[in-house]
Parts: sequence; structure tokens; C-alpha cells
Amino acid sequence: MDPVQQLQNMSALDAAHHIHPFCDIKDMQKNGTLIMSRGEGVWIHDSLGNPYLDGFAGLWCVNIGYGRKEVGEAVLRQMNELPYYNTFFGTSTAPATLLAEKVTGYTSGRMNRIFFTSSGSEATDTWFRLARIYWKALGHPSKKHVIARRNGYHGSTVAGASLGGMKHMHEQGDLPIEGISHINQPYWYADGGDLSPAEFGLKVASELEAKIDELGEENVAAFVGEPVQGAGGIIIPPDTYWPEIQRICRERNILLIADEVVCGFGRLGRWFGHEHFGFEPDMASVAKGLSSGYLPIGGVLINDRVADVLAQAGDINHGYTYSGHPVCATAALENLRIIEDEKLVQRVRDDIGPYFAERLKSLEDHPVVGQVETVGLLGAIQLAKDKTTRQRFQDVDLAGRTVRNFCYKHGLIMRATADRMLASPALVISREEVDAMVRYMRHGLDHLAEQNL
Ligand code: PLP
Repeated sequence: MDPVQQLQNMSALDAAHHIHPFCDIKDMQKNGTLIMSRGEGVWIHDSLGNPYLDGFAGLWCVNIGYGRKEVGEAVLRQMNELPYYNTFFGTSTAPATLLAEKVTGYTSGRMNRIFFTSSGSEATDTWFRLARIYWKALGHPSKKHVIARRNGYHGSTVAGASLGGMKHMHEQGDLPIEGISHINQPYWYADGGDLSPAEFGLKVASELEAKIDELGEENVAAFVGEPVQGAGGIIIPPDTYWPEIQRICRERNILLIADEVVCGFGRLGRWFGHEHFGFEPDMASVAKGLSSGYLPIGGVLINDRVADVLAQAGDINHGYTYSGHPVCATAALENLRIIEDEKLVQRVRDDIGPYFAERLKSLEDHPVVGQVETVGLLGAIQLAKDKTTRQRFQDVDLAGRTVRNFCYKHGLIMRATADRMLASPALVISREEVDAMVRYMRHGLDHLAEQNL
């Protein structure tokens, strides 16, 4: 069968049987599915052989790039040796135990324990429960409420979607559940007005203190935030923001949780995003870059303050069949070996990150670009109708979608959150590939400028 026919058949099967995450089923049935079939480095190929430069590392996760055979070989060995055993009932496997040691080792003693999950969403549900168990064990059972942020993203389970601040997710299924509140995000371009970014960072952080006052300190368990909001649009907070959030959490006696699912494992040029911003969380959720997405695995890192109390709490009645899955843990170990051997974290901090920043910033001269912001290998292009007044397009979603679809059609995968164009490439991207990415993006921006939106 010729490849076009094959693709059409596969696409029809997909439309008939497969409901995708975050999709409009009717639209998908009408437009068909693009079937991806092969990847190497930052390049992904569809089933017709068309190449795409993946500026998004899959879904913020393929940090070591596609096609690393070492991972497949390690996984196959483990698969043949012991494909599964659980970590309930006082048992473990060598990969799970070694991975726990390795990952906690990256925190320089700040977080010495990890609880494994299969995803970022499960990690969210895990720390959400552990925070309540912690306060109950300390004799404060009323400390249950968690404060999160509008436009944050913490996954798609009921707790995850509730903690996230995505209106379109809350609208489906009566969310958030009880015991969760949201404060504003540190999005200076949209909300900063005449304040400097530094002033705005302090102002928006002070909303946490106001919310604790409103709820009563005796009722609040924790605050959670992504060091840099990913899905919300790569919202990079001003430098003043996180130290102030940390001060408030410490002074008001609530736990500080970092969602490191996107920022962890080198994306910001440090092992973890909180290091970049200079704060120390009590717990941190991880996933994605932990295995570069080669197999699903996540976890919650826990500091001694919390772990010591949990140790006094008796049975922790929480866990997943696949917590510490030995094959997934093996993929993670091999992924981390590659990140270490190839010094990818340092590469992002000292070499490719600064180059990416310089090249992306060159787009700031474009008439439809209001601002370019980067940190490590996260980059956001803020679109603007009028860059001098920070006026945004009337239909921000249409503006973003116009650039995104144009880039996609011409071989660059990037994402749009409203009118912010997002890039998050694999940590192995070369300078030439960064140049190509920026070239494609400029064409996409030219296309938007021609639309007269
Ligand atoms: N937290 C953050 C910051 C994320 O970006 C995501 C997914 O994109 C999640 C949690 C949920 O992870 P998963 O999709 O693996 O459940």
C-alpha cells in the first residue's frame, strides 16, 4: 500500500476509535490525524516522511532528543530481567532504589526523599495528600487549603485540574474542588501596568499574604507554583517574586511546593527551576525530563522537615501500582546518565541557553512582537498589535494560532498559549538548529503581520 493510502487508513482508524487529550472530537474527525513515526535529535518525521523541527521537545519533555538507542537498550535489558515488581509491602527493585538516590542527589541535600508516580498529574495528587497528612500529623488537621495561581497548570486529574488555574478546565466538571484558591500570576506584560517588573513581582506576591489572611493561617496547608509557568504561556516571574513568596510561606507557616514538571532536569540551566530563582521548596513534583518522556515516570521530592513528620504519621495510605516501575526507572537512569555525561545542564546554562536567548531576542525588532523572554531553553514571544503601547490583538487566540499553524505547515513545531508563542526545544539542539527555528518563526510572524487582524 502506498504511504498516502496508509496514512489515510491510519487517520480514519484514529478518528473512529481514539479520543485524544485536549481535543475537539468533531474537529479531529474532520481534519484527520497526523501520524508521527520517527524521531532523531530535535527532528520528528510524520508517516509520509515529512520532517519537522520540534521546537517543543514533544510536550516539554524530550530533553535528550529523540532516537537515543542507549535508552532503548537499557530498557530492553531490564524488561528481560524483571519487567515489573511493585514497591508496596516493603519491596523495591534496584532501578527504583538507585533512581531515588540519584534524583535526590541533585538537590544537594535539600530534598533527600522521593515518592514515585507515573506522571506529573499523579505527582500533584501525591503532594496534595501528603501536605494534608503532614499538617494532621503535626496536630493541625484544619490546615488543608492550598493556594495556587490563575493560569497555572498542574495536570489533569481532579486535584490537578483544580489546582491549575485554567478557566476552560474548571468549566468542565465543576472545578475547583473545595479547599483550593487561586491568586494572580506574575505576568508583567499583561498586568504590570506602569509598575516596573520588580515592583510588580512584589505586588503580585503580596496577594499570597492577603489570601492567607482571608482564609486564616490555621486553615492553609500550602502554596504551589511552577517556577516558570509553562502551559500558561512561559510566564517568567520578575526576580523579586519567588524570594517574596518564600518569605511569606516561611513567616506564615505554610508549605512551599514547586511544580518542577517542566522546569526540572536542566531546562532552565540548573537541575531544578527553584535553584535558578533562589528558593527552597518543601516538596517538588517532577516528571517529563526525568525520563525525557521515553517512558512515563514522575515523582515528588520531599525535604527532611516534611519527611521527618511523615515518618511519624503511621501508615501513608497512598500509592500507585506503577510507583517506581523498574523499567521506567531504568529509562530515567539512562536518561540522567546521558544528561550528566553530555553535561547538558551546563550546556543550557553557559552555551546553548545564552545563544538561544540572543537569537530569539533578535525577533524583538519585528512589528508584531511586543517582547521576547527566555530563561534557559524556555522562550516566549509575546505578540502585540502595537508594541509601543503594549496593546494586544483583539483576538489573542487567533493571533497565536495564526503563527503556530503557519509554522507547523512549514515544518516547525511550536506552541501558542493565547498570544504567546512558546519554544522549549530539546537540550541537545545545535546552534544551527536554533538559527533555523528563529528563521521559521520570523516567517510565521511575517505571515501574522500580513493578516491585518
Ligand atoms: N505540572 C506541570 C507544570 C505540567 O506542565 C504538566 C503537564 O504538562 C503536569 C504537571 C502534568 O503532567 P502529566 O501530563 O504528566 O500528568
